Amino acid sequence: MHIRVKICGIREREEAEAVVSAGADAMGLVFAESPRKLGIGDALELLTGFGGPIERVAVFHRPPAELLSAVLEVVEPDVVQAEPTPAVLAALRECDRLFPVFHDSPDLLARVAQYFGRDAPRAPVHLEGPGRGGRGVRPSWERAARLARRRRLILAGGLTPENVEAAIRHVRPYGVDVSSGVDQRPGVKSPELIHEFVAAVRRAEQDGRRAARPVVRVFGGGPAARPGAAPKSATLVELLAGRLPDEQGRFGPYGGRFVPETLIPALQRLTFEAHSALTNPVFLHALQVELRSWAGRPTALTRADGLSRAWDATVYLKREDLAHTGAHKINNAIGQALLARRMGARRVIAETGAGQHGVAAAAACARLGMPCTVYMGTTDIDRQAPNASRIRQLGATLVAVDSGDRTLRSAIDEALRDWVSDPASTYYMIGSAVGPHPYPWLVRELQRVIGEEARAQFLESEGRLPDVAVACVGGGSNSIGLFHAFLGDDDVALLGIEGGGTRDEVGCHAATLSEGTPGVLHGAYSLLLQDRNGQVQETGSLAAGLDYPGVGPEHALLQHLGRASYEKASDRDALSAARECSRHEGILPALESAHALAGAGRWARVHRGRRILVGLSGRGDKDLDVTSAPRQTE
Ligand SMILES: *Cc1c(COP(=O)(O)O)cnc(C)c1O
Repeated sequence: MHIRVKICGIREREEAEAVVSAGADAMGLVFAESPRKLGIGDALELLTGFGGPIERVAVFHRPPAELLSAVLEVVEPDVVQAEPTPAVLAALRECDRLFPVFHDSPDLLARVAQYFGRDAPRAPVHLEGPGRGGRGVRPSWERAARLARRRRLILAGGLTPENVEAAIRHVRPYGVDVSSGVDQRPGVKSPELIHEFVAAVRRAEQDGRRAARPVVRVFGGGPAARPGAAPKSATLVELLAGRLPDEQGRFGPYGGRFVPETLIPALQRLTFEAHSALTNPVFLHALQVELRSWAGRPTALTRADGLSRAWDATVYLKREDLAHTGAHKINNAIGQALLARRMGARRVIAETGAGQHGVAAAAACARLGMPCTVYMGTTDIDRQAPNASRIRQLGATLVAVDSGDRTLRSAIDEALRDWVSDPASTYYMIGSAVGPHPYPWLVRELQRVIGEEARAQFLESEGRLPDVAVACVGGGSNSIGLFHAFLGDDDVALLGIEGGGTRDEVGCHAATLSEGTPGVLHGAYSLLLQDRNGQVQETGSLAAGLDYPGVGPEHALLQHLGRASYEKASDRDALSAARECSRHEGILPALESAHALAGAGRWARVHRGRRILVGLSGRGDKDLDVTSAPRQTE
């Protein structure tokens, strides 16, 4: 795990250079009352012509609005560190990158929880010692450790090159921050101590890696170490602690970034910007507003009495079919569209298979006034004509892809080609938890709302958690979104259902996790359906949204760790589950979602009388041609 190191209180060029050469991640420029305080003029002098690759943090206490806006305008910091007062939050609408400062006290956890609510669990908290200023005074490492298990924590207060390793072992923070601990005399930094401090942190990172390995389950050796698998360890503990994916975007051996050289800088920038957005209360607030007032969240959790009787179980449906545009895809699309706008992109491109993501992307871009181009295979345009019309009606440019297999795979290839030609001003909005890092992580973060809502709603209705959560798996976004809230709940089984198609033969199904082998597709190392020569296989599922030969890397890891299991449901079983749900519940499920219902019904027959949560990922209107016509599926 990488621990973010910030050296605070930089005043001189020589100090700034030492921070860069020591390999720290950030430097703090203090604009609050302090022996290390800078004026705006000093800061400009320090930074003019200084091109070091380092994040610049402007540090305040409770700044007057004029000072804050002047620093934002003139110094252009990457991050603002300040107490999250209403004035600060209001002013940051322009810069919107805040690491809120909290001072330690016995009610610390409650205060932090109150500030963030349930909305921003990844936002980093900057923790200082008790009392105002709190300079050089340690916070309680016990309390800090408890907070660090729940939130990203930047530990400050009383750190030195001598004690930082112990602090990291104890607290396991996301980052550490030092100021007086690397001073040679008050207000003057020592380049040697800065180097020693960073080196001590990097040593502690290594220890952390070794210590994490034996905890639950280990990669390396055994059947998981197939050709190409990096011998990396990954444990459930790391996953639960929010440490995966790692800096390389790896979920254990899976994930990563296998793309043309020209895309690397764009992916790095996207990673940085996405982290910064998703830890920023102002961005998260804007997202929240769109989800509630435009996309229709929270979606209902429906107790399915008819299915409960039929299956001898207590069945609840998480109703993503009620979300705007008819499926969970909108959660991701509006989140990425807001991110694209924040990054200053001039246009958005997207790929689509069945057209659901294309519609969501076109709608989100229309909402935010951004030009949007959607790539769609000609076979899919024929199969899903209504969605092609919707995309055009929403003002997006639809590009018909008449190469390769003329379906989703070719559409992604073509979208990637477009992106390679202009990565700087084009934003590529991917539609599932697949692709190169940071997409699998980013999409998961945007879909996590499904499981978080469902968990709270289920608890409220039943007074306890479900015995199993079931979702269908195409690329894996609605399922990872549902599963994530339950990963730490040992008693909740997680079951993903893939498209079993007509039979188990090559080309007749889309059961990547059940039948696939490791390999690289669309920028990530994961499981995929390929032949012995690595040629990607044809897939076949009645549900267009499941008809994809790859799967998100986090699912490959969850399967490997045994935390989730994956089965397939056939076209035929999905059709009959769709009929059952329509007749019993008055809900037309999407054919994709009907796979989850089929898998859940099967689970219920094996485990009698249990509580079952099913992710109903979308509505079935788009599938009426298939579901209502008498049709041979074999
Ligand atoms: C796209 C889609 C899916 C499959 O995609 P995931 O990324 O696996 O969620 C499932 N259900 C519906 C309704 C879809 O539109």
